[in-house]
Amino acid sequence: VLPSLKRSMARASSPVQDAPTQAEETFQYQAEVDRLMDMIVNSLYSNREVFLRELISNASDALDKVRFTSVTAPEVMKGREELEIRISCDKEKGTITIEDSGIGMSREQLLSNLGTIARSGTRKFMEMMKESKGDNNLIGQFGVGFYSAFLVADRLRVQTKSHEDTKQWVWEAKAGSHEFTIKEDTEPSLIRGTRVTMFVKEDAAELVDPVMLSRLIKQYSQFISFPIKLFSPKK
Ligand code: ADP
Ligand code: MG
Repeated sequence: VLPSLKRSMARASSPVQDAPTQAEETFQYQAEVDRLMDMIVNSLYSNREVFLRELISNASDALDKVRFTSVTAPEVMKGREELEIRISCDKEKGTITIEDSGIGMSREQLLSNLGTIARSGTRKFMEMMKESKGDNNLIGQFGVGFYSAFLVADRLRVQTKSHEDTKQWVWEAKAGSHEFTIKEDTEPSLIRGTRVTMFVKEDAAELVDPVMLSRLIKQYSQFISFPIKLFSPKK
């Protein structure tokens, strides 16, 4: 049962009707997610580069899952054999992008994974927050998860393709909003995996820089067993 409430239906963005794409739908976060996002933004402000640790760790988890799945279902590797994380940035657009060739998410998984809190670690974080009155050193050690991307992004886009779903989906949300949208993705297929694009806040623009990203990647990737490739923006 999905706790997110379907709010409204918009028309498919493409006026071309012969191959209808799935219309955009708007959902509300589970109330706990709203509270978690407030806590993250209020308590981790001075520690906001942890977003990269969280997104790299999610990419790595997704790669572990596809590697595990491929043991019994080798066909999941078809069309995209490499298991890797690709990070890039674009100063002009003000974006940082983290892409993995991991397990990806079906529409249902996208809706429940990025709309609710299912993880025990987050509950612990929220309990601890109530007790610790926001001790930054403690909080920095917690895996606060995907929503920490809102520490530096005012808008987030997640494109994802799972072998369990014929379609590729795109999830989008703005910082501070109580809702998110999901629609069929019309961009070229990822084949398999997930791409997270962060539209970085103006006051975090210094992070949209390959030298900065390279430093953070070194700091946060010691225990990651997949290659992480950093792509410099085009000159
Ligand atoms: P956690 O990683 O502790 O489960 P997160 O908030 O970091 O919590 O992520 C929530 C969920 O979203 C993950 O459990 C996973 O199911 C899904 N998810 C996030 N990022 C990815 C990704 N890159 N690929 C596939 N699934 C992902
Ligand atoms: Mg995580």
